[in-house]
Amino acid sequence: MHLSTFRGWLVPAAAGLLLASCQGKTSSSETATTTAPTEAEPTDTASVPAPADGITPALIARHIKVLASDEYQGRRPFTAGEEKATAYLASEFKKLGLQPGPNGSYFQAVPLVEIAGTPDSTATIGGNGKSLTLKYRADYMFLTEREQPTVVIKNSPLVFAGYGVTAPEYKWDDYAGLDVKGKTVVVLINDPGNAGNDTILFKGKAMTYYGRWGYKYEEAIRHGATGLLIIHDTKPASYPWTVVQSSNGGAKLHPQTPDHGASKLAVEGWITLDAAKRLFTAAGQNYDEAYTAANKPGFHGKAFGLSISTTLHNKITLKASKNVVAVLPGTTRPKEYIIYSAHWDHLGVGKAVAGDSIYNGALDNASGCAGLLAIATGFVQANSTPGRSIVFLAVTGEEQGLLGSDYYAQHPLFPVANTVADINMDELLAFGPMRDLTITGYGQSELDDYARAAAKEQNRYVIPYQHPETGSFYRSDHFSFAKVGIPALYASGEFESRLHGKAFAEKERKDFEEKNYHQPSDQFDPKWDLRGAAQDARLLFRIGQKLASETTFPKWKEGSEFKATREKSLLGN
Ligand SMILES: [Zn+2]
Repeated sequence: MHLSTFRGWLVPAAAGLLLASCQGKTSSSETATTTAPTEAEPTDTASVPAPADGITPALIARHIKVLASDEYQGRRPFTAGEEKATAYLASEFKKLGLQPGPNGSYFQAVPLVEIAGTPDSTATIGGNGKSLTLKYRADYMFLTEREQPTVVIKNSPLVFAGYGVTAPEYKWDDYAGLDVKGKTVVVLINDPGNAGNDTILFKGKAMTYYGRWGYKYEEAIRHGATGLLIIHDTKPASYPWTVVQSSNGGAKLHPQTPDHGASKLAVEGWITLDAAKRLFTAAGQNYDEAYTAANKPGFHGKAFGLSISTTLHNKITLKASKNVVAVLPGTTRPKEYIIYSAHWDHLGVGKAVAGDSIYNGALDNASGCAGLLAIATGFVQANSTPGRSIVFLAVTGEEQGLLGSDYYAQHPLFPVANTVADINMDELLAFGPMRDLTITGYGQSELDDYARAAAKEQNRYVIPYQHPETGSFYRSDHFSFAKVGIPALYASGEFESRLHGKAFAEKERKDFEEKNYHQPSDQFDPKWDLRGAAQDARLLFRIGQKLASETTFPKWKEGSEFKATREKSLLGN
């Protein structure tokens, strides 16, 4: 995933602490509010006993263990790991008796281009008698979506353009009065409201789409720029430079485009905060002053008076990756669909860390795929068959920018207007049962209400995601569905451990984020406590069962940016 949530991993053996069940006790801990529960609220720690629905920690562990094994080589698209992972998922769905997709196959081909870019080991910045040499990996990560063996950037003038945002509805334009044609724009990470300042600008602490790097690249293209460099700052980014390195080094996948990427930027890049400060200094400017100015309305960008030169060498491969699709046909409304999604891909084999070069992606996202299989098991074992059809979709290329889910949304195997909802899983948690159900994008759709009802069955409360500054809503596959109007839910426990409280959960999440996220150490650990993962899978299963039994379509709420798209799409029905 794109660091939407940071779930912990290692759990102290807590089996001995498993609390007695408390059946029949009415829950009073449900706090369906928009804020986290306070200490004054009940400290009921009762676990609801798990029904025998086939969704078990052992089953989830079994699937994670296979998918995250070294044999699967980190499940990178276009590798033997892809073949193994997609074949495994398809065969497991088949074993459960699920049908293939409408094309008679358990696979949907996703045409992609792989660009294995090797930037020069240095980039030269010069002008006004000053010069500065930046080093690849230590100072910058550069890549391109142009399908050309060599992309040369020669003396491209550097311009500082604040956050690189043009947002008329916020009366904000970092490009106002700035000529960036043929130039390389340098911008701050995130958006003016949320970049660690928690101001009233934009949506404050919560990141808007303007804070996403994909948006910044697009905006720079609209202004005619040659390149865009984002200044990485760990705090507002919410992840360290090592994640930028592991996510942007080596080969990258992109959607195939008719013009072979010719209209994309020559260079999409990241530089460290330290390198940025040296750049400002070389230009006779001050980073801190520029930063302060960029956070005020009416900011005006400025040229550095320096130019950048570097070259990218690319190896280009056009190839199709695969989404895996399996269907449990509905009995009464088979042409209406509920989709469960999880990405099967991860980063593959990369730079060795502590002697290990396989990025196994056990939690990210073998666990979500295990969730798909567990939920499928639940539906198959249930006494009644769902009225609506249930679709299980394991998508490719999430780590490369939601490529598989985006391709599906643009080339749906089942009509978008007949798709009731998407329920997404990305990183089930491995530190035991939780009291909360945290919803990413809370307040967007009526799926919140379904989630609340299902949470209540497990004596859990619902809260909004507590770190909206990370832009989590835009960082996993549910966003691809939301963009085409399909109400999408992304929810899991993460705020309060049932056994060890909130501080413990926070620490586990932080530890994962800092030590294991997108690192080779995200691997299966037999000491994990997957009871919380099983609970989350069950909860999402229950939501799907409910949706499958109804005849109505859950709606986006007033004020959601996806509401209009959905209404337009439903007009076709
Ligand atoms: Zn993920």
